[in-house]
Amino acid sequence: MKILVAVKRVVDYNVKVRVKADQSGVELANVKMALNPFCEIAVEEAVRLKEKGIASEIVVVSVGPATAQEQLRTALALGADRAILVESSDELSSLAVARLLKAVVDREQPQLVILGKQAIDSDNNQTGQMLAALCGFAQGTFASKVEVAGDSVNVTREIDGGLQTVALKLPAIVTTDLRLNEPRYASLPNIMKAKKKPLDLLTPAALGVSTASTLKTLKVEAPAARSAGIKVKSVAELVEKLKNEAKVI
Ligand code: AMP
Repeated sequence: MKILVAVKRVVDYNVKVRVKADQSGVELANVKMALNPFCEIAVEEAVRLKEKGIASEIVVVSVGPATAQEQLRTALALGADRAILVESSDELSSLAVARLLKAVVDREQPQLVILGKQAIDSDNNQTGQMLAALCGFAQGTFASKVEVAGDSVNVTREIDGGLQTVALKLPAIVTTDLRLNEPRYASLPNIMKAKKKPLDLLTPAALGVSTASTLKTLKVEAPAARSAGIKVKSVAELVEKLKNEAKVI
């Protein structure tokens, strides 16, 4: 089976992000960028399915600026066979990204599409769900286990207070949770090999998709600074402060 994995270029999770002075977004100039961690888990799952002989080809796709080729090369070094960049430097809504991914699904006809459950930059947690709706495919979100069985895939989902296992008829959409797997590191020889793997460039226009947004970010704010804590000398003092100062008990 062919697996399509959607990957996003985001600010590296180790970076402490700063809000731009005009509150239009976060500062991206000279900031370390990386593959979204949940997308890394998605690539790893696809690679494991290929290693088990279930997947025959892994195609990775990203929507973003030309620099997102770096993250596609990382995904190729982790084991993907081929990459597609839908190049756009616009700030795209999840619906626009889902429409572009749908156009790629139509071209590639994968049996399984794996996405991260969320991109750690915008925390939207909706692209996979939107793509499933646009394609008319079944979806298994927040997957902690994925097992392909014949013409369906069983997905164990992390839900409040437990696990739920659903069977999805292929083609289907899966979004990855943190505990699905632990992604491998790309080895140096694989990083070198990845440079020679095919990477196709497409544009929204070539896919015939309008990316006009119905959503506008009004402002982005940093969390309010927290006041410094104090040390109390006794439990009695703690209780007194909780009662009379914090007024929480
Ligand atoms: P989100 O809905 O933005 O939290 O993202 C969830 C998942 O959708 C990500 O982990 C990716 O797999 C996919 N995704 C979101 N934005 C993009 C993008 N620009 N390019 C490719 N995949 C994306």
